[in-house]
Amino acid sequence: MSDGPVLLITGASRGIGAAVARKAAGFGWQVLINYVSQEGAALALAAEIATAGGVADVVQGDTGTEEGISAIFAKLDARFGRLDGLVNNAGIVDVSARVEYFSRERLDRMFAINVIGKIRCAAEAVKRMSTNNGGRGGAIVNVSSMAAVLGSAGQYVDYAASKGAIDTFTVGLAREVAGEGIRVNAVRPGIIETDIHASGGIPDRASALAPTIPMQRPGKPDEVADAILYLLSSQASYVTGSILNVSGGR
Ligand code: NAP
Repeated sequence: MSDGPVLLITGASRGIGAAVARKAAGFGWQVLINYVSQEGAALALAAEIATAGGVADVVQGDTGTEEGISAIFAKLDARFGRLDGLVNNAGIVDVSARVEYFSRERLDRMFAINVIGKIRCAAEAVKRMSTNNGGRGGAIVNVSSMAAVLGSAGQYVDYAASKGAIDTFTVGLAREVAGEGIRVNAVRPGIIETDIHASGGIPDRASALAPTIPMQRPGKPDEVADAILYLLSSQASYVTGSILNVSGGR
C-alpha cells in the first residue's frame, strides 16, 4: 500500500472536487473522495485514479449533517488512519431569487452545508492534525467564492453570505492553529464550468456570464484545482490565512 499523504476532499464526485482528487492523486496523495448522492460518479473517479496508479477510496456522507460527517471521518480513520490535508469543498447554491423569497428551510440547508459543515469538517481535521494532539500537522483549503466579495445581488445573496463566513473562518482558524503545524487557506473561484449552475436553475450561466469576466471566459475546474494543490503543497509552507482569487479577474 502507498504511504503517501492522505487528502480528504468533500464533494469530490464532480466538478472542482473531482479535479482536485485527480490532480492530488497524480502528485502522490492518497485521496478519500466524499460524495452525497452520485455514488457512480465517485466510484468511477476512484477507479480512474487506481488505473492511473494512484490510491483512492470513496465515502458517502452529507456534510450538512452530523451523521454524514461522522461517517466520513470514521471511513477516513478505518481506511487510512491518518490525515494530512482537507479540501473543504462541498457546497451548494439554490435557485436564483431575491431575499424576500428565501424560505427558512432554504437558509437552514444553505448554511448547514456551506458553513456549519465546513467548520465541523475542519474541526475533525484539526483534532487529527494538530501537533497539540500528537498529530503531524497538515493543510486545510476552504473553497469559498468570489460571491463573498461581489454579493450576488438578485441571484443568491444567501450563498454569497455563506461564502463570506468561510472567508472569515479561514482567517481566524489559520491564526488559531498556526502554531500547531496546520496551515489554513481558501480559494475564491469565479465562474467555473461545473454542474452547480444547473443545480441553481441556470445551466448556461457560465457561458452567459463570460462577457462580464475580464478574461472573457469561465474557468475550468482544473484551474481551481491547481490553486488548491499549490496551497496544499510545501511550496506554500509560509502561506496561511490567505484567500486566493481564481476568477479570471472577476
Ligand atoms: P458541483 O459541480 O455542483 O459539485 C458539487 C459536489 O459537491 C458534488 O460532488 C456533490 O456530490 C457534492 N455535494 C453537494 N452537497 C453535498 C453535501 N451536502 N455533502 C457532501 N457532498 C456534497 O459543484 P462545484 O461547482 O464543483 O462546486 C464546488 C465548490 O466550489 C462549492 O463549495 C462551490 O460553492 C464552490 N464554487 C463554485 C463555483 C462555480 O462557478 N462552479 C464558483 C465559486 C465557488 P454528489 O455528486 O454526490 O451530488
